[in-house]
Amino acid sequence: MQNKKSLTLRILSGLALGVLAGIAMSYLPDHQGSLFTGLTSLFDLVGGLFINSIRMLVVPLVFVSLFCGVTNLGDVARIGRIGGKTLAFYLITTAIAISLALLVSTIVQPGQGLDMAELSKFEPTIAQRQSLVQTLQNIIPINPVAAMAEGNMLQIIFFALLSGVSATLVGARARPVIDFCESANAVVMKMVMLLMHLAPYGVFALIAKTFSTTGLDAMLPLIKYVLTVIAALLLHMCLVYMGALRVIGRLKPLKFFRNYLLAMSVGFSTASSNGTLPISIETVETRCGVANSIASFTMPLGATINMDGTAIMQGVAVVFIAQVYGIPLSLESFLIVILTATMASIGTAGVPGVGMITLSMVLESVNLPVEGIALIIGVDRLLDMTRTVVNITGDAVCTILIAKSEGKFNPEVYDSENSEKISFDSVA
Ligand code: ASP
Repeated sequence: MQNKKSLTLRILSGLALGVLAGIAMSYLPDHQGSLFTGLTSLFDLVGGLFINSIRMLVVPLVFVSLFCGVTNLGDVARIGRIGGKTLAFYLITTAIAISLALLVSTIVQPGQGLDMAELSKFEPTIAQRQSLVQTLQNIIPINPVAAMAEGNMLQIIFFALLSGVSATLVGARARPVIDFCESANAVVMKMVMLLMHLAPYGVFALIAKTFSTTGLDAMLPLIKYVLTVIAALLLHMCLVYMGALRVIGRLKPLKFFRNYLLAMSVGFSTASSNGTLPISIETVETRCGVANSIASFTMPLGATINMDGTAIMQGVAVVFIAQVYGIPLSLESFLIVILTATMASIGTAGVPGVGMITLSMVLESVNLPVEGIALIIGVDRLLDMTRTVVNITGDAVCTILIAKSEGKFNPEVYDSENSEKISFDSVA
């Protein structure tokens, strides 16, 4: 395994070269020509191979790693306490995220004076919405094998937690199952590490494909909206995440970004928190110094229920759509948006574009026209990539803080210049 810097650098180079290649391709005169279609098919192939290979690991990794995490903690009360703290952190930061987005967009007014005729028209896809009761009911799988086959994250988490707790309560007789899962966990983690070598090529292909097909010109009429979302995302990163690491964790925030950059670049190019999960768990353990027992619990949970970046996009989108349609928003509407967007993120898997689907729920909650989604969906891909970075960063920050509060954090790994070969579990 090469050292940490070289892999991160290779992935970042893949990302930068992908942007350049994609933009260069978008200027090719003939988009139906064989050169353009040949190159996009090649990028499709390489990007698809990479995404599929990491997605292949999500279900086995979440199950075995969570099972081992719980059995390693060995204490049911502790699991409950960690669960409570994690949920509180996720819900509070999401509520802050959307409030910040509402504030920023009220000041910037991204939809003011916009000529709707200039905007491209798209048909919004409005998915079936689930009530909170249904979401909660669905946490318990009727058939755990089906849950795994469908990749239903909350159900897998529930089943793994219950299995881990039961194995702990059974004691010595459960030892063979625990040993088996520990060895399976080591095998899956090894697969993650091997696949990380593909990341620079995968990232390059995914980014080049996106930038060659997303015409940047389409963004111009909506540039104020795009920049407002990006500004709110950056503010949330700097104020909330860096602030929490510094004040609550007493850790150097910049060090965190260096350690976690690798996962962030994969999150950006795949636009999927779930898809990035194997790499974000590995990064948080081996580069940020968090024990597997915490990371295996808080990271998959975060990928599903914690979406601060998505909430920020939704906050800005609500204000933007209201302004374009000339509908005033009351203080009460703001409160409803905060509540609905926070709840909407629970039970929604972190996959590309899901934020646009839950946005329809948020718009409906304050009687704004759902068709407004058509105004912004054309520029959503780049924002989806950017907010996914924020989503997975929130998961990692929470994981580090919880690990620290539970004595499951190794500052030596966090501060080390080359933490490639060590992790909390190998040192502690
Ligand atoms: N793509 C985002 C994620 O996976 C979700 C979204 O906002 O669409 O975290």
